[in-house]
Amino acid sequence: MRFDIVTIFPGFFSGFFEHGIVRRAQAEGLVSIGVHDLRESTHDRHRTVDDRPFGGGEGMVLKPEPLAEALESLGVKPKTARRAAFPTLAPGETHNNGELNSGDGTRVILLSAQGRRLTQAAVREFAKVERLVLLCGRYEGVDERINQIYCDEELSIGDYVLSGGELAAAVVVDAVMRLVPGVLGNEASGEFESFGAEDASITVDDSGIPRSQHGSGGLLDYPHYTRPAEFGGLAAPPVLLNGDHQQIRQWRREQQLRKTWENRPDLLAGAQLNEEDRRLLGSWGWHPGDGPQGDRTRG
Ligand code: SAH
Repeated sequence: MRFDIVTIFPGFFSGFFEHGIVRRAQAEGLVSIGVHDLRESTHDRHRTVDDRPFGGGEGMVLKPEPLAEALESLGVKPKTARRAAFPTLAPGETHNNGELNSGDGTRVILLSAQGRRLTQAAVREFAKVERLVLLCGRYEGVDERINQIYCDEELSIGDYVLSGGELAAAVVVDAVMRLVPGVLGNEASGEFESFGAEDASITVDDSGIPRSQHGSGGLLDYPHYTRPAEFGGLAAPPVLLNGDHQQIRQWRREQQLRKTWENRPDLLAGAQLNEEDRRLLGSWGWHPGDGPQGDRTRG
């Protein structure tokens, strides 16, 4: 899989890409990442990338010409041209519709606080495309025509405002890359985590015990422990040390439910829950009808 990042601060990424899984995945040739300096696509003496906003107001805006030139130099055509070459994509179909790549294997993403919010489900979709092109905004943002002409979507990493798209792009690369086959040691482990893929076919094992190992079904992960068995006056849960895998599975499922109930009750409405899950949640005060609207997040 290929990632191309367009930024005015290419140096920002050097530390990030030289550590851990991101470094290894590149070294093993499973992913490649190109970081492109937007200023290379300017032609004036000052290498100007920004200008004052039409209509007045605070700050500066990233000019469209260098961004367009940077994209074209990466072989990225305007959306209309890409779609014309691949007519299977209906006009206006851009989000979440299984045709994420505009037909040509490339998906162009504008990092923006105004975008749809990144979720693990979106990460799973992105991991299927051949190339992600990530545009990092700065200042007040990017001239909107770049979004209109080139970008398949605007993407936000959360409801807060960053000073630039670089951190957001790094978040996207990190989250997507670890789902590229071969990148994680254990092929399937991405499925076992918080927000794991739903797997309707396997939710309980032969004894009717929910298998948290087979897709967390939209729940958060369970807590993890390692040696020493006693730390800071707290013992690791004895059930994890007794070797009874069925009990361990059951305990982990309960913990997933508990964490989700305590920290992200909004997720329960979309989670795959069986009878036992519902009974347990009910004993904690959850009602099956509770939707995201009935969100009881505290604070
Ligand atoms: N005026 C904009 C904020 C600009 S912040 C607004 O109010 O929405 C400058 C750049 O940081 C943006 O162009 C975008 O690329 C990036 N950015 C800021 N917040 C972000 C977020 N939550 N997710 C992704 N990118 C973000």
